[in-house]
Amino acid sequence: MQKQKIMAFKNKTLRLILGDQLNINHSWFTTVDSNITFVLMEIKSETDYVKHHIQKVIGIFAAMQHFAKDLQQKNHDVIYIRLNDENNFHRFDENLSVLINTHEFTQFEYMLPDEYRVDEHLNTFTQKLNIPFKVYDTEHFYCTRSELGDFFAGKKTFLMESFYRNIRKKNKVLIDEEDKPLHGKWNFDEDNRQKLPKSHKPVNPLLFSNDVTEIETNILKSNIKTIGKVNSKNFIWPINRKQSLELLEFFTTDCLQLFGTFQDAMAPNEWSLYHSRLSFSMNIKLLSPVEVVDKAIAAYNKNPHEIAFHQLEGFVRQIIGWREYMRGIYWLKMPAYANLNYFQHDKKLPEWFWTGDTKMNCLKHAINQSIDYAYAHHIQRLMVTGNFALLVGIHPDQVDAWYLGIYIDAFEWVEITNTRGMSQYADGGIVGTKPYVSSAAYINKMSSYCSGCYYDKNKKIGEKACPFNSLYWNFYNMHEDKLGNNPRIGMMYNVWRKMNVDTQKELLTQADFYLKHLNEI
Ligand SMILES: Cc1cc2nc3c(=O)[nH]c(=O)nc-3n(C[C@H](O)[C@H](O)[C@H](O)COP(=O)(O)OP(=O)(O)OC[C@H]3O[C@@H](n4cnc5c(N)ncnc54)[C@H](O)[C@@H]3O)c2cc1C
Ligand code: SF4
Repeated sequence: MQKQKIMAFKNKTLRLILGDQLNINHSWFTTVDSNITFVLMEIKSETDYVKHHIQKVIGIFAAMQHFAKDLQQKNHDVIYIRLNDENNFHRFDENLSVLINTHEFTQFEYMLPDEYRVDEHLNTFTQKLNIPFKVYDTEHFYCTRSELGDFFAGKKTFLMESFYRNIRKKNKVLIDEEDKPLHGKWNFDEDNRQKLPKSHKPVNPLLFSNDVTEIETNILKSNIKTIGKVNSKNFIWPINRKQSLELLEFFTTDCLQLFGTFQDAMAPNEWSLYHSRLSFSMNIKLLSPVEVVDKAIAAYNKNPHEIAFHQLEGFVRQIIGWREYMRGIYWLKMPAYANLNYFQHDKKLPEWFWTGDTKMNCLKHAINQSIDYAYAHHIQRLMVTGNFALLVGIHPDQVDAWYLGIYIDAFEWVEITNTRGMSQYADGGIVGTKPYVSSAAYINKMSSYCSGCYYDKNKKIGEKACPFNSLYWNFYNMHEDKLGNNPRIGMMYNVWRKMNVDTQKELLTQADFYLKHLNEI
């Protein structure tokens, strides 16, 4: 534990900064006060609650170290507890107790954690604390924790679209003087979501080249179990505010003009396409959603001939809509949400989810890319890995642990609502109005994976039949009691019910074969 100019004194405040609370524009940091000490800690309770991608652990520690240095340069008093420091007890409560007792702090303060687990931990800690404490907002999100709950009070459904419109109106984002949406519509999705043409070469992603070898060495020394790969001499993710702002600039100048168009597209050798890759910077609060949205709007206003409005609205919807919505659902529904399993699914993830070693080309690419970069874009997460996990009936705990571990931007408040909710429908329809499942037809429509696949996208049964095709019908058949009356999928049930009984049987037998050989397909 680094001991820095801390001596016994009276009226001193200790303020905890969590690894995902690196918001330099927070009001905590506007003035320097010698009676206030900030503490950041690299602890195993945070690295070990799930097996994380090595890039995620490195990225967070690197960003914390930069943040602490920035604070020190601004003359704030900072204690930084490193992973291998001798007196690191690897829990927030224990480290905080030692600091408070040793340095005789008289007040403890922290910002509202975004994760329920950490929130509970600090609640328990402060209940036993014998000095006063105070909790602050993170000053990051558009909405408070309870805003979504208040908005939907008394309602049975939680439609993202109505919440999104409300936030836009409230914050005057893309709204005209009469409180109407700019360009007359709230939603421009129909102009977006095309497949990537064969001849189209997307922009090369802006990658950083950070040397994080020391952090990697310390992680290895402390026996933290991780997944995935890293080139620690050239770490590609932004690890400070300056780099995060550069990535934001790159996105608005080089990607926004085609963001919506290729938002759902997938291609074997393109891992980032026109996506912003800003989720990591935003989720650890190096960037605020407000500044990201404002910057995108400014880019559009400066260059409306190059950036069509539907590209901008598509992007704003992800942040003002989905990101805030998922957080609101999380705080409304936790802790029960973490145990929901609507379909009672109970299978284990196939082993190749950790290696990418499968004959299914779409999954091979989505998983290998996740191992290489700790990143996959939304449609890869939803319609490739998530789709497969749902079709074969993986236990949502297993699916959650995989997503929470593998992605650099994964923090439970935004991971679990996307995974257990949107992707696995384990919440029975709180987040989504129907399960996101598809056969090979959708994957082929949005990607070029199928042409290089061992399996045949057009075959439903027999040798080399694409597993998605039979598993899709098997899923609907298996869950007819729960889904049969859902008006959004009535058409699919009509097709299934009208199908020849022998064909139905063949499809179910084919699906059964794949379900029995999950590790080999
Ligand atoms: C199964 C599953 C798990 C997911 N887990 C996470 C997660 O752990 N952390 C996370 O930040 N996102 C998660 N998402 C949402 C989304 O996939 C990622 O936010 C996005 O891929 C991040 O990449 P990007 O920054 O390039 O996003 P872009 O495509 O550039 O989108 C811009 C921003 O919009 C926000 N956004 C877009 N979609 C969503 C969404 N559905 N929910 C919340 N915010 C959204 C993100 O902040 C993102 O940075 C998950 C989605 C699915 C289907
Ligand atoms: S054929 Fe099936 S398994 Fe292969 S890439 Fe297409 S959808 Fe995926």
